[in-house]
Amino acid sequence: MPGSDLQRFLVGGVALLAIFSAIFHPLPAAAQDVAATKAELASAKIPAQRMKQYSDLAVQWMEEYLRIDTTNPPGNEKRAATFFKKILDQEGIENVVFEYAPGRADLWARIPHTTAQAQRPIILLNHMDVVTSDPSHWKVPPFSGSTVNGSMYGRGAQDMKDEGLAQLVVMVMLKREKTALNRDVIFLAVSDEEAAGTGTDWMIGHHRDLLGNAEFLINEGGENLLENGKVRYVGVDVGEKTPLWLHMVAHGRPGHGSRPNTDSAPNRLIRALDRVIQYRTPLKVLPVVEEFLRDMAPYEPAERAQQFRNIRDAIEDKNFQDQVERDESLNFLLRNTISLTMLGGSEQTNVIPPDAWANLDVRLLPGEDPKPFLGSIRQVVNDPDVTVDPQNAEFRVANASPTDTVLFDAIRRVAQQYFPGTPVVPRLTSGYTENQRYRPLGINAYGFSPFTATQEEGNTEHGNDERIRVEELRRGPKVLYDVVASVAGTR
Ligand SMILES: [Zn+2]
Repeated sequence: MPGSDLQRFLVGGVALLAIFSAIFHPLPAAAQDVAATKAELASAKIPAQRMKQYSDLAVQWMEEYLRIDTTNPPGNEKRAATFFKKILDQEGIENVVFEYAPGRADLWARIPHTTAQAQRPIILLNHMDVVTSDPSHWKVPPFSGSTVNGSMYGRGAQDMKDEGLAQLVVMVMLKREKTALNRDVIFLAVSDEEAAGTGTDWMIGHHRDLLGNAEFLINEGGENLLENGKVRYVGVDVGEKTPLWLHMVAHGRPGHGSRPNTDSAPNRLIRALDRVIQYRTPLKVLPVVEEFLRDMAPYEPAERAQQFRNIRDAIEDKNFQDQVERDESLNFLLRNTISLTMLGGSEQTNVIPPDAWANLDVRLLPGEDPKPFLGSIRQVVNDPDVTVDPQNAEFRVANASPTDTVLFDAIRRVAQQYFPGTPVVPRLTSGYTENQRYRPLGINAYGFSPFTATQEEGNTEHGNDERIRVEELRRGPKVLYDVVASVAGTR
């Protein structure tokens, strides 16, 4: 979808939803926030003893789940699917395992709506595979699931066996509590997210029907940052940037290193790269980023707050442009970015090679068309002996979901109950998630985590000593249950 179409789609969707909510919700979202009380949370109806049982189950099952080695490659996610299936079968929840390749499987489960008329389903999506780990750098073995000082360790404890498990417990809670539902709740555990994404590809390719024209999807992503014992913000991912990896090759006359030649391939490459890294891609303000910065403004020093509130004006200012350039966490939100990551030339010090190459990790904003971007890079390179081409033939234009939906509103309201006074902000992330694959199906897909994590805990994702605090494991399913019940439950 070209950029202008996406923009139209987003604007159109938001306008439509605004009309819809004006008809069905007499109170604006902000007024509803104020009106919400603790008793409105669906979990308040669950007796404390049963709530404790769900928390106990979450801890016990998480330990078992972390012990299943689903390192990808090779994945072996069938083992995890079998683990989920056993629990779902015991609980009498409809489910199917699809072994789409040897050892690799997707699992689909559903709790059907209970009302005569149903709204479109909500999907709880998780991936069962985890990235590799090197036990020699870990305090405890990565597949031990052991608890040390109140934290449970294991590869996947943050990404994303924790959330997959919370989603499973929510399914069990909905079933046991006989929660009245006005839409189907679908649990979808996929394989291979950390590599080629074949699990999601297979599901969409072969069983689009089982996704039932879903309206909403909750997936990994989002960040609820815990700082000095307080949640700084509840970040909900509404869009992601997508990679456009480029391969650059310079050509030149080869020769002996003892006889320098100014137009050699490595020299040409370095000059071209210098132009590329000096190049400042245009600053752009997407509506989601504008909303995020406005929401975060009250937590910034005065000058920064002013800039965040008026970001469209701020980006015209030369000083602010320089600040953006130096601020990693702000820069990627406002432009397409280019990182030089790989370089290659001669195999020998005394040989001038005929070719020298570099790889660039480019990340494009939602809606960006790769063709004009590539054109601008070639213009910047401006050398007929230097070629720039995408590494992959396929490119999918990045997308985003609007914030004006009942699911986003539900997250806002539930988060206010658990973390009063904490802003709930929409985020654009620099990394890719499978939300990108589901949004083109007409699904509003968000990255939302029911857990909080400190910066240090968050950094263990894909790192060493990946872990989650047991108290988060105990509370997470309850938070997610309240969000799901708020969107899918009848009142
Ligand atoms: Zn993940």
